[in-house]
Amino acid sequence: MKPNATGIQKKKMQGYVGFSNYPNQVHRRSVKRGFNFTLMVVGESGIGKSTLINTLFDSKIFPDREETPPSAEPIKGVDVTSMSADIQENGVKLRLTVVDTPGFGDSINNEDAWQPILENIESRFDAYLAQENRVNRSKISDNRIDAVIYFIKPTGHCLRAIDIEFMKRLHTKVNLIPIVAKADTLTARELELFKAKIMADINYHGIQIFKPVSDEFDDPETVSDNREILSKIPFAVIGSEKLVERPDGTMVRGRRYPWGIIEVENEEHNDFIKLRQMLLRSHMEELKDSTDMVLYENYRTQKLLSMGHVQDNNVFREFNPLVLLEEERRAHEAKMQKMEAEMTAVFQQKVQEKESKLKLSEEELYARHKEMKTVLEKQRAELDDKKKRAEASVRPITPMEQHPTKGKKKNIFSGF
Ligand code: GDP
Repeated sequence: MKPNATGIQKKKMQGYVGFSNYPNQVHRRSVKRGFNFTLMVVGESGIGKSTLINTLFDSKIFPDREETPPSAEPIKGVDVTSMSADIQENGVKLRLTVVDTPGFGDSINNEDAWQPILENIESRFDAYLAQENRVNRSKISDNRIDAVIYFIKPTGHCLRAIDIEFMKRLHTKVNLIPIVAKADTLTARELELFKAKIMADINYHGIQIFKPVSDEFDDPETVSDNREILSKIPFAVIGSEKLVERPDGTMVRGRRYPWGIIEVENEEHNDFIKLRQMLLRSHMEELKDSTDMVLYENYRTQKLLSMGHVQDNNVFREFNPLVLLEEERRAHEAKMQKMEAEMTAVFQQKVQEKESKLKLSEEELYARHKEMKTVLEKQRAELDDKKKRAEASVRPITPMEQHPTKGKKKNIFSGF
């Protein structure tokens, strides 16, 4: 069997081994433990946050306005409050925490309205990080925000400065789900144009929003579901906790108008179904994974680096024998090359030393030769000189002197 690009061989099994039951085991264990989900809602007062949350979870997560005691003073600035509820459906428990941000967008100057919200999100990351660093980590409570539903006012125009600023400041810290609130206040055509303008603004400002993505492991049904969800972003939703009567007499959640009713759970009327599908039915785990593995991981890295921690990649490197062998081979080659270079350098140094020694002795020989030559030339000159002088001092003997009696009559008196 040929390995694929990743080097993994795909094998078909002959019989039943049992690990295909693993998803059921995970399911059973998770059902026993229950799930946690923390959702933040951001948008100005009266935009429909509590209505939508109560509609989404079909529960009174947010108490009725009449039940909430009127606060003595209106909230100054942005507050962050949270409420939890245990909800159960078909035996599956969900601990839902909804984090509300009353006061956001309600002031005259909303320039820094994002600040307390960002601080709250980061403080939850910090709390998780502190627990992770504890010696005993068996009971880590995870209060990190898994998603933020950002309510956009149904103006029909572009995004407002407060929307852009908020999303720009928070998109790397949370899974952003922008929605058009009170979608029933715009016509279908207005909504279509408004959604296009919102997406253009989001793209223009490089804002990352949460989007379902399909991969090669997804079945065709999931791929098509994801595509449909994606086509509805930003979801235009309506919320209502009230039941209204349809013309056929059935009761549905919706809003009544003189001209008819708008149904919450009707895909032709709004995108509530798609939002609920993504948030609760198909992508809850993906939202949690993205929070844990991407957003929190990035935050944690930045935080630890800013605190002066440095990662030794050799310690955390995955062990791969092939990579290790290759590294050892490279290290050996480098060592041999270094040795060779050192030996060449020593050899060259020795040759140079020899050469300079030879040159020195050649110069010495030459100097001696020159000296001897000078001495010899001097001696020769002296000899020549002597010779000349000797020659000059020795007058040539005349024939007479050589043979004094020759040609002359012997004088018998000579010598007297
Ligand atoms: P919050 O202050 O953001 O929590 O807003 P509420 O959920 O309390 O809603 C404020 C008002 O808007 C209430 O009277 C709701 O009935 C109404 N409302 C909520 N959702 C919608 C909606 O989708 N469409 C319309 N037309 N009104 C809504």
